[in-house]
Amino acid sequence: EAILRIEHVSKTYRSGGFLGRKRRVTRAVRDVSLLLPKGGTLGIVGESGSGKSTLARCIMRLVKPEAGAIRLGNTDFATLSKSELRASAKRMQMVFQDPYGSLNPRRRAGELVAQGPMIHGMPREQAMARARELFALVGLDPAGVERYPHEFSGGQRQRIGIARALALEPEVLVADEPVSALDVSVQAQVLRLLAELRTRLGLSIILITHDLRVAMQVCDLVAVMKDGEVVEHGPVARVFAAP
Ligand code: ADP
Ligand code: ADP
Repeated sequence: EAILRIEHVSKTYRSGGFLGRKRRVTRAVRDVSLLLPKGGTLGIVGESGSGKSTLARCIMRLVKPEAGAIRLGNTDFATLSKSELRASAKRMQMVFQDPYGSLNPRRRAGELVAQGPMIHGMPREQAMARARELFALVGLDPAGVERYPHEFSGGQRQRIGIARALALEPEVLVADEPVSALDVSVQAQVLRLLAELRTRLGLSIILITHDLRVAMQVCDLVAVMKDGEVVEHGPVARVFAAP
């Protein structure tokens, strides 16, 4: 049973074409269709520039695809208005490559995790208690909620990024190169955490990575992108089988 259906999604970037600049048209995502089974981990792999990040942004509606549907249950995210999107957005959350880049260095780690629930109306005390629970869930000392992002290691910061994404209890996690900025030894720990969370919380995960080893460690399904298109997809063991 599919939890997320990506149907014929396309996104073209257009730039230039004014003040004598050359007009550039990049068909970053071309007619991509994929299914994410409930409880599954779908890897989207491919070289730099193949359209992985753009597809992730389309799924999250950080960019609006010019064609296609992104269906989570009966909701088509591709066509939702901004206000409808706000109400449904918590059902899908994103984990970014560089947790430091996406975490405000002036806010305490606990506040960063509590922010989403507070925006959705949870009282501060309760949201901070929830942040401490989430810290424990991702393998951090709950006392760390009082610390600032720069006081944590790269792997710990990514755990905070994951806690922040989980704070609104999403059904789907979209992780865009979640371990690319980490040392190889730390990568495996963070990937193991994602796999554990998937089982414990019944999450479904889309994992974007340029690193085939990362996909092989945690994904059960994989789609290979090239020049904006999915050129191959299926169970990880089949797609990555030695020819
Ligand atoms: P080889 O080039 O000898 O096939 P690789 O380690 O490059 O060995 O590839 C191993 C497997 O991964 C192959 O089955 C191949 O189809 C697949 N593969 C190769 N490059 C990519 C890529 N950029 N994205 C996804 N899969 C790839
Ligand atoms: P990947 O994540 O696989 O590296 P991207 O989705 O970032 O691929 O990029 C796909 C293509 O779209 C590339 O040719 C890239 O240069 C282009 N691109 C990405 N973002 C933009 C943007 N904001 N404006 C114009 N072109 C873009």
